[in-house]
Amino acid sequence: MKRVVVTGGAGFLGSHLCEALLGRGDEVVCIDNLCTGSIDNIASLVDNPRFSFVEHDVSERITVDGPVDVVMHLASPASPVDFDRIPIQILKVGGLGTYRCLGLSLVKGARFFLASTSEVYGDPAVHPQPETYWGNVNPIGPRGVYDEAKRYAEAMTMAYHTHHGVDVRIVRIFNTYGPRMRPDDGRVVSNFINQALRGEPITVYGDGSQSRSFCYVDDQIAGQLALLDGPHTGPINIGNDVEFTMLELAEVVLRVTNSSSEIVLAELPQDDPTRRRPDLTEATTKLSWKPVVPLEEGVARTAAYFEQLL
Ligand code: NAD
Ligand code: UDP
Repeated sequence: MKRVVVTGGAGFLGSHLCEALLGRGDEVVCIDNLCTGSIDNIASLVDNPRFSFVEHDVSERITVDGPVDVVMHLASPASPVDFDRIPIQILKVGGLGTYRCLGLSLVKGARFFLASTSEVYGDPAVHPQPETYWGNVNPIGPRGVYDEAKRYAEAMTMAYHTHHGVDVRIVRIFNTYGPRMRPDDGRVVSNFINQALRGEPITVYGDGSQSRSFCYVDDQIAGQLALLDGPHTGPINIGNDVEFTMLELAEVVLRVTNSSSEIVLAELPQDDPTRRRPDLTEATTKLSWKPVVPLEEGVARTAAYFEQLL
């Protein structure tokens, strides 16, 4: 049994991670300021004696009593709608929050795990994206607050590793979806499913030819735990490497939900990456992990969750 601190543990991915860690017998201290997360996400965990929740902003000093074996830093808003709404908080949690979590790891002698992102590749000139690609990011564009915070977080993590000897892991997460995303999260899968279920128009931005590769949450968490438990520092891409255009995704959602919503084209956000697909060579060879849930099945499971909420 390990004692694991999970920042952002009341969020979408964080709550699934807490659940998986508890499921294998670990003790979890979840720290979250609930800025995009929710107590509902961890409602089924709070009665577990191995789980505790602390409401706290990890950009401020973090104190955890007792021993800590692992610090997993997932706290950060992650939806492009938040980049506009709370840009300074995003920069702070990626910068100061990562610094605080690394400090906690250093004093506790704990392994540090950073949730980084495919956004470090920006609008990629190399396709698919291997970990060796340095990216194409506009630092002063609307996505810069998130992309640069994560790039800085990676740099800080590697500096604590090389300078202080902290044992670190970095995962670069590609578009992941599933139950417990917020219905109004703004990201494409939750938007499309909720629009389809409500019979509202499906809002495809631009001409819908931009692509993403969507990973179901269970696959994502399995990949992250494989990285956490193994000897490799990373960064390692974790995602699904089957690529879809946004028009193709809209069709899948309409088919799976049996919806008669119409597809409408809306304005493409500035700096929206034109394509994204992980090169999973590192993950499959070093972690012996690969995603197994196809898009149709993951969308069906996610739609069942949103249907319940409606
Ligand atoms: P989310 O918004 O559901 O979860 C983020 C959680 O962090 C929320 O519970 C939020 O309240 C908490 N948080 C934010 N700022 C905080 C702060 N200062 N102090 C304490 N808690 C704070 O988003 P998610 O999709 O679950 O993303 C989790 C992590 O994974 C993020 O670091 C994100 O950058 C990364 N990521 C996610 C995806 C994806 O597709 N879901 C892709 C790439 C990277
Ligand atoms: N998108 C869309 N309609 C929506 C929301 C998003 O067409 O209602 C597009 C968006 O422009 C982008 C893709 O879907 O090209 C993925 O967007 P998301 O915000 O989910 O993730 P990210 O852009 O960060 O990969």
